Amino acid sequence: MSYQSVNPYNGKLLKKFKELTDKQLEAALKTAATCFETWRQKTYPQRATIVAKAASLMRARADEFARPMTLEMGKLINEARGEVELSADIIAYYAKNAERFLAPQHLKPHSGKAEVVSSPFGVLFGVEPWNFPYYQLARFAAPNLMAGNVVMVKHAGCVPQCAIAFAKLWLDAGAPAGAYTNLLISHDQVNRVIADPRIKGVALTGSVEAGRSVAAAAGQNLKKSTMELGGSDAFIVLEDADLDKTVKWAVWGKMNNTGQCCVAAKRFIVVEKLADRFLEKFQQALAVLQSGDPMDPATTLGPLSTEAALVQLLDQVKRAVAKGATVVMGGKRINRPGSFMQPTILTNIKSSNPAFQEEFFGPVALFFRVKNENEAVALANDSEFGLGGAVFTKDVARGKRVANRVDTGMMFINHPTWTTADLPFGGIKNSGYGRELSSLGIQEFVNKKLVRTASIDAPA
Ligand code: NAP
Repeated sequence: MSYQSVNPYNGKLLKKFKELTDKQLEAALKTAATCFETWRQKTYPQRATIVAKAASLMRARADEFARPMTLEMGKLINEARGEVELSADIIAYYAKNAERFLAPQHLKPHSGKAEVVSSPFGVLFGVEPWNFPYYQLARFAAPNLMAGNVVMVKHAGCVPQCAIAFAKLWLDAGAPAGAYTNLLISHDQVNRVIADPRIKGVALTGSVEAGRSVAAAAGQNLKKSTMELGGSDAFIVLEDADLDKTVKWAVWGKMNNTGQCCVAAKRFIVVEKLADRFLEKFQQALAVLQSGDPMDPATTLGPLSTEAALVQLLDQVKRAVAKGATVVMGGKRINRPGSFMQPTILTNIKSSNPAFQEEFFGPVALFFRVKNENEAVALANDSEFGLGGAVFTKDVARGKRVANRVDTGMMFINHPTWTTADLPFGGIKNSGYGRELSSLGIQEFVNKKLVRTASIDAPA
């Protein structure tokens, strides 16, 4: 059974869902393809009315949307409400700005006239992860629907109630059937959908392994794809950083969503002058987090998304230690029901340790001590990933210099990497390719068509 809601706070099975049969999948593809033919003809204001309505419905029903997230994958309820707000912001942002972002671009050719116009590709297919059950969907669906595409989405197996709630949102907002389709389908069916000639583009957010599989299938079928994959973001602390404020952000950057963020701070790289004091304060701040029911706003440490995720992370820590890493704190499951892990800090991770290149997806921080800025940059860049990163310093010009030298898709100064509708999101290296959000995200799946007007009497 691959689609089921299990509450990771207590292990209770809440609901199971059946996968679509091939016949149902074929009907869904047909509906989406038919819908595209009318959706693409609508004007921007017509599409914006529906998309803006989806944003306002989400805000009006914030609790209704937040609860299934907390129940299915253990997100702290206040963070869940925050994600609903963020998702609504993204949807509203594209309702407002899409027409401007996709306006014809007038060129200045040496003679005559030319412009580049943007037209939708058609039916797009998204494969999405559980860690931000609505935000991930919003950042794929909203720009593409506004661009005139229609979308079909395979969400992760552990968040089917969120997947269904988000699909219903579009119908409630007045979108025609087929504009947004949720697909409860198997990995095998994913490959068949990608190969289907009605699908014109593929977007995946998830692990490197899933990325390799989906990108390969898209490539085999010569379909454009975007890949938003994992990360092992550096959190660089220079010797002139404000220690207390930096530690506050270190805790947030590591523990937001119980550490299950692609852009969570994963490698803490601290210049030696501050290293001991940083480590001590960081440890103290992590030690006071209180595990409990994620539905209770007083809880500060939620469970991991699933029991399997916890078992995998505990094993990863064990393997890292077997290869020479030292546990500064934590490293174990919390002795209580549910899939809870102790906040953990590992140090002494040498480059020969496989953990050095791995992504730890949960409340596990890797701590590194470096001599100076140059060593910090070199270590930050010694990674197969290249998603986000942060640098903390009182000298913003220095922060920008460091940011320029780190090979990632996003660098933040004096704040952990984070996301809003108007900032582009994406990575390089094994963190993937393409961008979502901002004016860039909406350009990924549109045909940039040249329309040239020449004088009929022009010389050949
Ligand atoms: P995952 O296991 O790769 O799953 C992501 C999605 O891909 C799910 O819908 C999953 O479906 C599907 N999938 C996995 N393997 C597949 C295959 N071989 N064929 C077809 N579909 C497949 O990732 P996750 O554990 O849910 O999410 C965590 C990962 O996502 C982390 O690495 C994180 O860093 C990354 N992430 C990246 C970003 C970004 O923007 N760069 C944002 C969030 C998360 P099932 O659930 O049915 O297996």
